[in-house]
Amino acid sequence: MIIYADNAATTKMSKTAINNMLPYMTDIFGNPSSLHTIGQKANEALESARKTVADCLGCEPKEIYFTSGGSEADNQAIISAAKLGEKKGKKHIISTEFEHHAVLHTLNKLEKEGFEIELLPVGEKGNVTAEQIENAIKSDTCLVTTMFANNEIGSVLPIAEIGSVCKSKGVIFHTDAVQAAGHLHIDVKEQNIDMLSLSSHKFHGPKGVGVLYSRIGIPLVNLIEGGAQEKGKRAGTENIPGIMGMAAALKEAVENIDENYAKVSYLRDKLIKGLSKIPHSALNGEPVSRLPGNVNFCFEGIEGESLLLLLDAKGICASSGSACTSGSLDPSHVLLAIGRPHEVAHGSLRLSLCEWNTEDEVDYILKVTPEIVEYLRNMSPVWKDLVNGKKEFML
Ligand SMILES: *Cc1c(COP(=O)(O)O)cnc(C)c1O
Repeated sequence: MIIYADNAATTKMSKTAINNMLPYMTDIFGNPSSLHTIGQKANEALESARKTVADCLGCEPKEIYFTSGGSEADNQAIISAAKLGEKKGKKHIISTEFEHHAVLHTLNKLEKEGFEIELLPVGEKGNVTAEQIENAIKSDTCLVTTMFANNEIGSVLPIAEIGSVCKSKGVIFHTDAVQAAGHLHIDVKEQNIDMLSLSSHKFHGPKGVGVLYSRIGIPLVNLIEGGAQEKGKRAGTENIPGIMGMAAALKEAVENIDENYAKVSYLRDKLIKGLSKIPHSALNGEPVSRLPGNVNFCFEGIEGESLLLLLDAKGICASSGSACTSGSLDPSHVLLAIGRPHEVAHGSLRLSLCEWNTEDEVDYILKVTPEIVEYLRNMSPVWKDLVNGKKEFML
């Protein structure tokens, strides 16, 4: 038996998504720019997908740009807003310490070009308030970019409040909604979001497809030059099968959003309650304002990587945090941002659920994990020092 509990890294495709892709790999394989029937059929499909996505986000189809994923959408949104600001002499950008690297690394690049980047602290529970944003906005602020929900510790940010602060101050607001799309209610008009990124493979769609929503009136900077696709803002023959799969997956997720939320958050809470019983452990992030599927713990005295390998041997796929930082020895920047010391941050475990996980799976995880933690602690020299009192417990 394999239990997949790493849905924040990527998800399995739904049957709906796969079935909606197949015709565009077989009969309707045309290039949407071609004038013949097969091309025009592909073009009609493309525009119907754009309408579906727009309806799911509460915007106009012409405000939707298809990209290769969340990372590309983040890059294009941030660079576009920065370049627009620069033209008006505004070079101050506000973001947070616990953004995804697609955002942080883009901001680093802009900093080298002379932009002033201000990363707001996220506190012990890992969140930011609209007041923090309001206080940070200056006369030369051109962009606020904050994630909708954090991919590691699951915090859900007060997006509508941040949006209305930005609107009242006349500052562009971009949100990386990759973890939120299909899982939390999004309405870009109601929430005053000017730009938004999402990624198909985080809601049971195919990999390599994403969306940038950009409000009418914000000029986009091209990251890829070439043909006139996507209103001239994103060159390259459209990934029609991927786009069709994504639109179907998003529609399905949005239609079932409340039902899935109830189901998944029930499993999440059961996991959190059970894992909290492990001594010298701590939940990372907020208990309440949290993604329905996110569980993230630190266990003192163990290495997260060893825990993952032993869980994997028991058939449980989990993560120590972000898929992007695993493989490097640096502890997660998100766990450091919420004040976890290096040693503690190394002993982290993220379990991210979806609506296909079952209560039996959760019970199995709750049986196996405490045993593995104890096993690892028994052979850990750090744990010995903690128990002997040579080192002090931090959790
Ligand atoms: C996965 C993820 C991304 C990157 O999306 P890709 O489609 O994999 O490029 C960006 N931001 C967040 C919050 C994510 O979880």
